[in-house]
Amino acid sequence: HHLEESTARAGGPLDDARVREIIRDFPVLGQEVEGHPITYLDTGATSQNPVQVLDAERDYYLHRNSAVHRGAHTLAVHATDAFEAARRAVAGFVGAGEDELVWTSNATEALNLLAYSFSNASTDRWRESAGRFALGPGDEIVTTELEHHANLIPWQELAARTGASLRHVPVTAEGELDYAAAADVVGPRTRVLAFTHVSNVTGAITDVARMVELARGVGALTVLDACQSVPHFPVDLPALGVDFAAFSGHKMLGPTGIGALYGRRELLAELPPFLTGGSMITRVTMEEAEYLAPPTRFEAGTQRVSQAVGLAAAVDYLSRIGMENVHAWEAELGQRLAEGIQRIDGVRLLGPAAGRERAGLVSVHVDGVHPHDVGQILDTQGIAVRVGHHCAQPLHRALGVTASTRASAYIYNTTDDVDRFLEALAGVRGFFG
Ligand code: PLP
Repeated sequence: HHLEESTARAGGPLDDARVREIIRDFPVLGQEVEGHPITYLDTGATSQNPVQVLDAERDYYLHRNSAVHRGAHTLAVHATDAFEAARRAVAGFVGAGEDELVWTSNATEALNLLAYSFSNASTDRWRESAGRFALGPGDEIVTTELEHHANLIPWQELAARTGASLRHVPVTAEGELDYAAAADVVGPRTRVLAFTHVSNVTGAITDVARMVELARGVGALTVLDACQSVPHFPVDLPALGVDFAAFSGHKMLGPTGIGALYGRRELLAELPPFLTGGSMITRVTMEEAEYLAPPTRFEAGTQRVSQAVGLAAAVDYLSRIGMENVHAWEAELGQRLAEGIQRIDGVRLLGPAAGRERAGLVSVHVDGVHPHDVGQILDTQGIAVRVGHHCAQPLHRALGVTASTRASAYIYNTTDDVDRFLEALAGVRGFFG
C-alpha cells in the first residue's frame, strides 16, 4: 500500500507532500462536492477510514468470521485469535495491558458502562465486594464545564440514582479548565473526578497530571474522556495515572461501532458488571451466576469482531506514521487555523489564542451569522465542518454563545485545506452583508 512507500521514503515529520500521499489511502476524500474537491475538516465528529482498515475488515469477513470465545471449530479459533490480537494492539497503543481494555460500542457506551457499574456497586447486592465504587448521599461526583454531554449526563444520572451530588469545575474565558477553581471544587467528599483530555469545542488540552494529583489528594477515582486525545497524540494511560478512560474507534481512522473503556487492572477486577448475559459468566444456576474476570466480564453477548480488527488496523496505520509526527502536524495546522481566524474581522475564536498550546481543531463564532448558515456556505465550496453545539451546550453557554462552527484537522489535511477554510470563512460575513 501507499503508506508503506510514503513511510519508507519520508519516515519522519508530516508535510503537505507526505499528506498528499497519505490521502491516496482515503478514497472518500478523492470525491467532489458541488464541483469542488472535498475539504474534510470534520474529523472531530468522525474520521475517514484508509483502505488498510477497510481491507482488514473485509479480510476478516472473507476468511475468519465467527462468534468469538464460543465454538471449538477452526473459524471460531481464528476469530477469537483476531479479536484478542486486536485487543492487544489497541491496548498497547495506549500503554495498557490487554486485561485493562474493555470493548464497547463507543466512548459514550464506555462512560455509561462505568456509571452503571458504579450504581450497581451502590446496591446491597455488590456493596460488600465493590464498596470502593459505592456512592450515596454526601458523596460528590465532580465533572467539568468543558465536557461533551457523553461525560456529563451519565454522571448526572448516576448522581440521581445514588443520591450523590454533582459538582463541576468551571472554565475560563479562554475555554480552558479553571485549575484554581478545581482545587476548591475537589474536596474530601469527592469520589469521582471525570474530565476531558482535549475539549472537542475549544481544542484546549487538559493538564491531566494536575487533575490526577487533585483527585489522588482526596482519594477520588479519575475518569478521562480521551476521545479527542488518543487519535491525535501519543497517550500512555497508565503513565497519566488516570483510573479509567474512554475513547472511540471512529475518531481514529477505525470503524464505527467500536470503542473502549480502559480501567486499571486492580479496579476492573472489583468492578461489578453492567450488561449481563452470555459470554461473561463461568457458572450459572437458575438462581445466580458467577462472572468471568475482566475484560470479558464487561463484554456480554456476541462481540463486534470485525470492528475490533478494523480498529487494530487503524492503530497500526497511525503507529507507522508515528503519533509524534501526527501530533506535530496537527499542532501546526491548529496554530495556522487559530492565527488565520484571529485575522478575520467579526469572527471570534473560542478557546486558546494562537501561540498557546491547542489541538488541531478550532471553533468560531461569526458575528451576526447563524452557524448553520456558515456551514451551508462552506459546503457550497466543498468544505465540511461541524455546526451547532457539538454536544457541549453548557460549555457554549459559559462562552456566551449558543452554537459555533468547528473545523477539525487530521493526518489527511494539508495547509491548503486550512487556507481554503480560512478564505471561505472570511467571505461569510460579506455574503450576508
Ligand atoms: N467525548 C468527546 C470529547 C467527543 O468529542 C465525543 C465525540 O462525539 C464523545 C465524547 C462521544 O463519542 P462517541 O459519540 O463516539 O461515543
